[in-house]
Amino acid sequence: MTDDDYYPPVSPISAGLPGKCPRCGRGHLFKNFIDVPPACDACGLDYAFADSGDGPAVFVIMIAGFVVLGFALWLEFTYEPPMWVHIVVSLPLLIVVCGGLLRVLKGVLICLQYRNKAAEGRWEG
Ligand SMILES: [Zn+2]
Repeated sequence: MTDDDYYPPVSPISAGLPGKCPRCGRGHLFKNFIDVPPACDACGLDYAFADSGDGPAVFVIMIAGFVVLGFALWLEFTYEPPMWVHIVVSLPLLIVVCGGLLRVLKGVLICLQYRNKAAEGRWEG
């Protein structure tokens, strides 16, 4: 019996989207915007395992690139606006979409990593 057996399973999606702890689903997974604190403030789960690496960034690039670039191209070819319109409209849209997606996807990927016990390979000794 480990500490993990004490907690009922939490869906990685329902815990990860709002940035909650993957074990208890109540504690905070993020300290500031996307910084992961050393441990859960509710159940004490050690977050040392949490290493989503470049995973969230890849999904952000794929999704935001498709959505925001698609919007910018549509705007350009439909209205042919001056360049400052893209700086005022498309650039802030890109920053908001990337920032929002990065936090959400990082939370989901860390929760999936916890659920699936994903880590670097180690030799069994
Ligand atoms: Zn917790």
